[in-house]
Amino acid sequence: MKVRDNLTIIQQNIEQACMRAGRNPNEVKIIAVTKYVTIQRAQEALDAGIIHLGENRDEGLLEKWNALHEQPVWHFIGTLQSRKVKNIIDKVSYIHSLDRISLAVEINKRATRKIPCFVQVNVSKEESKHGISADSVINFIQELKSFENIQVVGLMTMAPLSEDENVIRDTFRGLKQLQKDIQALKLEYAPCQELSMGMSNDYEIAVEEGATFVRIGTSLVG
Ligand SMILES: *Cc1c(COP(=O)(O)O)cnc(C)c1O
Repeated sequence: MKVRDNLTIIQQNIEQACMRAGRNPNEVKIIAVTKYVTIQRAQEALDAGIIHLGENRDEGLLEKWNALHEQPVWHFIGTLQSRKVKNIIDKVSYIHSLDRISLAVEINKRATRKIPCFVQVNVSKEESKHGISADSVINFIQELKSFENIQVVGLMTMAPLSEDENVIRDTFRGLKQLQKDIQALKLEYAPCQELSMGMSNDYEIAVEEGATFVRIGTSLVG
């Protein structure tokens, strides 16, 4: 399938999910996750009108970045080892996987500007998932106050691989509730206006529950 055709379908699905939820489709931005595909396919996505590209490994990001430079807005969406921060920090506009203070220390040290970050939350409490527990999010974000180069623009989560739509929906609702709790604190460095949630299999549910960034690989460029 052409990326353009996939994108048309996904955009229609997002519009319908927004209608069901009483949301404005303009609030939902699509990140094309290009980790499985070639530079050519990523370029095809940009030609189809995609603005945001996401990669989950530093090698993948650098390879694509070296070909596409600043055409897209770059998102780092994967687990980030502290020692890799310096490789990507000047190339990305957003980091979706801030999940520990040691990583915040490294981002803060290497950054030459404020970096928009998502705090990754393990809402579903699966052992295999990265991210901090929902119980510790508020404390964690309060600890970030002294990091002048970190702006907490939102929260990110991954839903469990489940056939049960309710399990997935509960995960996204949990993230939305945490966002409300954080916004109520009115922290200047943590406006937390964005929610990064939803992938190929569950983005429509995520949109119904308030996603502002969906991260889609397989069904868009795969
Ligand atoms: C791979 C990946 C995605 C996209 O997954 P698909 O199921 O292919 O849409 C989204 N988010 C993260 C963090 C990923 O690693």
